[in-house]
Amino acid sequence: MTIRLVLLGRQGSGKGTQGARLATHYQIAHISTGEMLRNAIKHGTPVGKAVKETIDAGGLVADDLIGSLVQGRLGETDARTRGYLLDGFPRTLPQAHLLDDIARARPVNVVVDLEVPREMVMARLSARRAAEHRVDDSPEAVERRLALYEEQTAPLISHYRKLGVLAVVDGVGSPDEVFSRLVSAIQATTGVSGPGGDGQTAR
Ligand code: AMP
Repeated sequence: MTIRLVLLGRQGSGKGTQGARLATHYQIAHISTGEMLRNAIKHGTPVGKAVKETIDAGGLVADDLIGSLVQGRLGETDARTRGYLLDGFPRTLPQAHLLDDIARARPVNVVVDLEVPREMVMARLSARRAAEHRVDDSPEAVERRLALYEEQTAPLISHYRKLGVLAVVDGVGSPDEVFSRLVSAIQATTGVSGPGGDGQTAR
């Protein structure tokens, strides 16, 4: 039993940090589409050039471009054999349907919604702007990203609830507290507690 996980949560919910920790804990591929796109921009690739303006403005990159990036990454050996954690994808209902198709042979078995109130993420994001100098952490871009989250990404929660794979986790607390809540919720949904599973296939 491998973990194939989607991590949902507003920008600034701690998703990036917790995603990296979870991927290390379960020894699965950490796939962050935002990270992949920022790398493409940094290296000046054709993809990077195509998406830079959209990203800086806090907009969403086209579904087909993101879909083929993710499809390529999920086809790599680590993701196929060890499992994966998707951070930042899917972000729209069409992307979720795309993922259902791409991952048909090895479908997602847990979707975690990391819940942090909107007011709290605003404060965290302005701190990050000061520390990391991300152009898309400007107040206008943050507003836009949060609005897009409510509009386009929040509907995924009911999609995955219907599929019976949703776990909602309270993201308010210390990083260690939130991490242990995440591990418990993932175990409750998949039966897996650590790397390589626990030998008891729950699903
Ligand atoms: P993130 O690091 O996940 O906040 O992503 C940073 C930016 O990359 C987002 O604001 C979008 O512009 C773009 N991006 C990342 N993932 C996606 C996605 N699944 N669909 C569309 N745009 C994305």
